[in-house]
Amino acid sequence: MKRREFVKTASLAALSATALAACEKQPLQHSPQAPALRANKTFKWKMVTAWPKNFPGLGTGANYLAETITAMSGGRLEVKVYGAGELVPAFEAFDAVSKGTAEMGHAGAYYWKGKSEATQFFTTVPFGLTSQETLGWLKFGGGQELWDELYAPFNLKPFPAGSTGVQMGGWFNKEINQIEDFKGLKMRMPGLGGEVLQRVGGTVVNLPGGELFQAMQNGTLDATEWVGPYNDLAFGLHKVGKYYYWPGWHEPGSIMECFVNQKALAGLPQDLAAIVTHAMDAAYEQMSAEFTARNNRALTTLLTKHKVQLRHFSKDILTTLAKISQEVIEEMIERDPFSKRVYQSYSQFRKESMQWNQIGELGYAQARALVF
Ligand code: CA
Repeated sequence: MKRREFVKTASLAALSATALAACEKQPLQHSPQAPALRANKTFKWKMVTAWPKNFPGLGTGANYLAETITAMSGGRLEVKVYGAGELVPAFEAFDAVSKGTAEMGHAGAYYWKGKSEATQFFTTVPFGLTSQETLGWLKFGGGQELWDELYAPFNLKPFPAGSTGVQMGGWFNKEINQIEDFKGLKMRMPGLGGEVLQRVGGTVVNLPGGELFQAMQNGTLDATEWVGPYNDLAFGLHKVGKYYYWPGWHEPGSIMECFVNQKALAGLPQDLAAIVTHAMDAAYEQMSAEFTARNNRALTTLLTKHKVQLRHFSKDILTTLAKISQEVIEEMIERDPFSKRVYQSYSQFRKESMQWNQIGELGYAQARALVF
């Protein structure tokens, strides 16, 4: 036993000596078996995004991620951010990283529903999980494994890298007192929420964020959802929308993603790969905290300074929207087997979350509101 250990140690020492010698002779020769030999190599990565450069919350969240990776690696992995249209258009970020034109991409998974409808579960779905619950599902409920499986054929590794939290129901130029009030309403609402809106008689007009103000102003739109108080105030939507409705049933907790080209990730030394992975968590926390703080402040500004009229969707309206959302999702999982697998995991997690949320977060929020 002892002899064997000695032989092992001796062989290791010999190997190390050989490795050192090799290192001295050819410091730039790398192999996956010898990460130490690659320690001094530097990497320059490109991050393409679906957001305008420096867009508040989302674009700045991508910047934070890039800066964190660059700083944590001491500059050995330098990440440069490209706004939408700078290197590739917003909706080509997925393909660009898949092909290796860029190493990383920052977007929302639901933008890729043309690749697979199941991507929507990894951002948000109507009446789905909150951000906090989605993160729990991804990290401890089997969600990440399904997401990895979904993106693997595209040579991508996905990560949650931020969240807007729950969104708002949107800006409306007329009151919505009953479900019939959606009939003929021209509203901007992307994704599954838009399908639900159509089934209650609305007309979905999907425009990019930058065009919403004008479309509300000239009557192209009667209503629009965007994000929440922080981003909506920045766009001035309170100047063109009369009533501000809650809750954001269609986007209960939107997760922002960062996907990395798998080959590029595998080509990094272990410590840099770990930095990329853990910087995602830091970026998630940063964006989530920013939206919490800035939404609080912006809502106060909207209500006190701009005298915005808040409205709550009635219980009847929400019940109808929830039932139709369920129909839309059930039809989707019937036509797409992978969505069905994801939904089985997701809906089981929602069931458990609702029980705990009722007495946990919601229970506490109600108790606090009794006095404060
Ligand atoms: Ca939205």
